[in-house]
Amino acid sequence: MATTTNKDYYATLGVKKTATAEDIRKAFRKAARKYHPDVNPGDKKAEEKFKEISEANDILSDEKKRKVYDQLGFYSDQIDPAQAEAYARQSGGGGMPVDFGGFDFSGFQSGPGQPAGSQAGAGSSSWGSFKDIFSGIFSGQQHPGRPRGPQPGTDLEYQATVDFWTAIRGGQARMQVHRQETCPTCHGQAHTGGPSQCPECNGTGQVTQMGGRMKFNIPCPRCNGTGRTSNDCPNCNGEGLVDRTETVEFRIKAGTRDGQRIRLQGKGNSGVNGGAAGDLFLIVRTGTHPVFTRVGDDIQLAVPVTVPEASLGAKVEVPTIDGRAQLKIPPGTQNGQKLRLRERGVESAQRPGQRGDQIVTVEVVVPTLQDERSREIMRELAKLNNQDPRAELFEKNRE
Ligand SMILES: [Zn+2]
Ligand SMILES: [Zn+2]
Repeated sequence: MATTTNKDYYATLGVKKTATAEDIRKAFRKAARKYHPDVNPGDKKAEEKFKEISEANDILSDEKKRKVYDQLGFYSDQIDPAQAEAYARQSGGGGMPVDFGGFDFSGFQSGPGQPAGSQAGAGSSSWGSFKDIFSGIFSGQQHPGRPRGPQPGTDLEYQATVDFWTAIRGGQARMQVHRQETCPTCHGQAHTGGPSQCPECNGTGQVTQMGGRMKFNIPCPRCNGTGRTSNDCPNCNGEGLVDRTETVEFRIKAGTRDGQRIRLQGKGNSGVNGGAAGDLFLIVRTGTHPVFTRVGDDIQLAVPVTVPEASLGAKVEVPTIDGRAQLKIPPGTQNGQKLRLRERGVESAQRPGQRGDQIVTVEVVVPTLQDERSREIMRELAKLNNQDPRAELFEKNRE
């Protein structure tokens, strides 16, 4: 019968058997900093090592667990060392699923009517009670690194660029995402084909584990005592998931702003063993426009205005996101001045029924004079309006 090797948790953490709780804590923190998956992304060896040191720390940092481990050389959640020892002392050996190597059984009697050394103990009373206890003790044993229960899929986050008009008016958008999906070959089971004989226990379903001076026959952790294992699926390497590139389509609400998050439930990575899929989060990046600039629900626009228009005042036509509109330029409008067209901005996604404004920045265009007559008029204008626009500069600079 195969024997599983006991793990040396002290060696894993690199501490002595006499290490104090503080020594163990320090050793774990040091090793964890080195092997943490966040520090070693994609490094399978480091990940495996991190699992090992975490397991060792889990046992050795817990006083009760450490006591059991020190006594038996391995640990299981359901072991009560005092009870185990008591049973080991008062019960006989023949037919038991326990082999007390190193004990002298000459003075013991096996179960009623059982010849010593018989393996046909099933059904005998002493066998039964003993077996029940030990099967209970070991049922808590887990096979590390191979989770069997349902596991939820992880969430995904992507930036989704949505063009200027779709973000304003709403509509459908699509993009490609890479996600992990349930393997189509094994349907997420991670293994294929009929079960074959477990190589760990050679099909017996049991392995021997040393517990201090005792030998325990325990259910094989690899096959969970069934004696049979399944082959890893070659398509997904036993992961149950495969990488896929998929085009997802999603709805854009009218007035969606830059940076807004859209949640697509269940569109993240698929779960394992029936676990729920994660969610897909899209961070919207709204596209730009050659004329309009969007700031929240407002639209900004620069509008060139002639000197006579700015000076005398005028009504000019300007583009808005829903067509042309009349803009009143008050007399004496200066370059850079901002004029507001109320409720000509974007329909708000947050506050239904409300719209932002269009904010127009005036750009006064100075005429290039081509003829003598125009220059004449300009000189005359200067004579009639001889204000000094730089007077304030000197005023403020006086001190
Ligand atoms: Zn598969
Ligand atoms: Zn097995």
